[in-house]
Amino acid sequence: MKLDSLKELYVEELKDLYSAENQLLKALPKMAKAATSSALKKGFEKHLEETKGQVERLEQIFKALDESPKGKKCKAMEGLVEEGKEVMEEDAEPEVMDAALIAAAQRVEHYEIAGYGCVRTYAQLLGETQAAKLLQQTLDEEGKTDQALTKLAEKINVDAEDPVGEEEEEEKPRRRRAVAAR
Ligand code: FE
Ligand code: FE
Ligand code: FE
Repeated sequence: MKLDSLKELYVEELKDLYSAENQLLKALPKMAKAATSSALKKGFEKHLEETKGQVERLEQIFKALDESPKGKKCKAMEGLVEEGKEVMEEDAEPEVMDAALIAAAQRVEHYEIAGYGCVRTYAQLLGETQAAKLLQQTLDEEGKTDQALTKLAEKINVDAEDPVGEEEEEEKPRRRRAVAAR
């Protein structure tokens, strides 16, 4: 692959993101299924819907560029998804599994944030105003998802630190309800 210009790099990076998002379309339902916390489950489901829109935005950009979105595999996302799979195969306490799912998901979001930040900036430099706008929208969604995961982790990590023990089982649901009612 010879890259002679920022424009060519821009297209390559967009293809990488298109591959990454499509891999996530398959991974997010599995992560939702593996989550125990209903808030985390809902978070993954919400982001799955957003991801569908992100794929559409990329398709729109490729159409305007008269380029195919296909032809590249994001190996980094392949690895991140693979790590997520490894975690899901572990025999973990539900709260610990949820914490691990958040850790895996935040790695994914940070990768996307880096990727979209770059292509958004390239689009601006190349005068691709409409594309820059679309890419900024996705970048904002990824950022909000990352923040939402941090918020969920603030509770889930604490629960994971002290997963439901035999004697505590009575007390735990009450604590949960109190948190949910806030
Ligand atoms: Fe995404
Ligand atoms: Fe990649
Ligand atoms: Fe994302």
